[in-house]
Amino acid sequence: LEYCLTMTAQRIDGNALSQKLRAEVTSRTQVLKAKGITPGLAVILVGENPASQVYVRNKVKACQDSGLHSLLEKYAEDMTEKALLDRIESLNQDPSIHGILVQLPLPKHIDSQKVIEAISPHKDVDGFHVVNAGRLAVGEEAFVPCTPLGCLMLLKDHMGDLSGKNAVVIGRSNIVGKPMAQLLLAENCTVTIAHSRTQDLPDVVRRADIVVAAVGRAEMVTGDYLKPGAVVIDVGINRLEPEVGQSKGRLVGDVAFDDALRQAGAITPVPGGVGPMTIACLLRNTLVAAHRRAGVAAPEGI
Ligand code: NAD
Repeated sequence: LEYCLTMTAQRIDGNALSQKLRAEVTSRTQVLKAKGITPGLAVILVGENPASQVYVRNKVKACQDSGLHSLLEKYAEDMTEKALLDRIESLNQDPSIHGILVQLPLPKHIDSQKVIEAISPHKDVDGFHVVNAGRLAVGEEAFVPCTPLGCLMLLKDHMGDLSGKNAVVIGRSNIVGKPMAQLLLAENCTVTIAHSRTQDLPDVVRRADIVVAAVGRAEMVTGDYLKPGAVVIDVGINRLEPEVGQSKGRLVGDVAFDDALRQAGAITPVPGGVGPMTIACLLRNTLVAAHRRAGVAAPEGI
């Protein structure tokens, strides 16, 4: 009996689902190329942030693997805001480029919001422009930020219909938390957004059938935050201090994975959960941008 009462959560495999999506993008890219259109993504990196270097490299590599055209432009830390805005304007005009991504964070002397607003909403494949955020909020066709879009795909793949589920999103950033809440609302979930000023966070989270943790605090969400059977999507990427003899610390999420396994119904690992979906969704958004630009019906079902 004791054995039966011990729950072990399923692992939600982000690598597997992202590979499926990327294969789909690859084949639809071939179809589009046959019509003379190659989807193109420009990735801009300003400065030397080591995590950002890895992210942009992975994004460009993923484009190449799926047959998309990509452009990686790296600029020095002291690039002026004006120079960056001018570069974005010329990419807005460039017909070979369908998506423009400026890797965040930007150096402090550059106003990120101003830079995001300079990107044409038609090429805003990160979905950060106010036009796309607004369109998402009112339920119009929009570019949706890649990370929450990837989270939603993982949830739907695992659970099917999300209608009527209680969802708690922890974190209210414009990049993850807020658009995640909008997407879940559009799926007819009852959505709560928790954040740094939320009182009794564990009590709030324990009501959830679906938990999305996007906080940036290593292993903050423990098993006692979870209702038995809850489906947990861990967005956090946190590097722990290196252990003795190691040069790099381990990567962990915002959820204490092993502890959560005892309560959750299913959970995404870090790495291998949300991260790979984010990249796959970037390719997907770029592909969709290329379809829209060409006036070709956007690919269904991806
Ligand atoms: P952010 O710092 O902009 O936002 C964090 C949010 O967490 C804030 O809204 C804040 O209110 C909330 N918060 C902070 N402390 C809290 C607490 N004690 N209790 C409850 N809420 C609290 O971060 P972000 O950009 O939304 O990213 C969140 C995490 O997700 C980070 O670890 C980031 O590295 C990761 N991330 C991963 C991917 C991916 O591809 N997997 C993409 C983007 C971000």
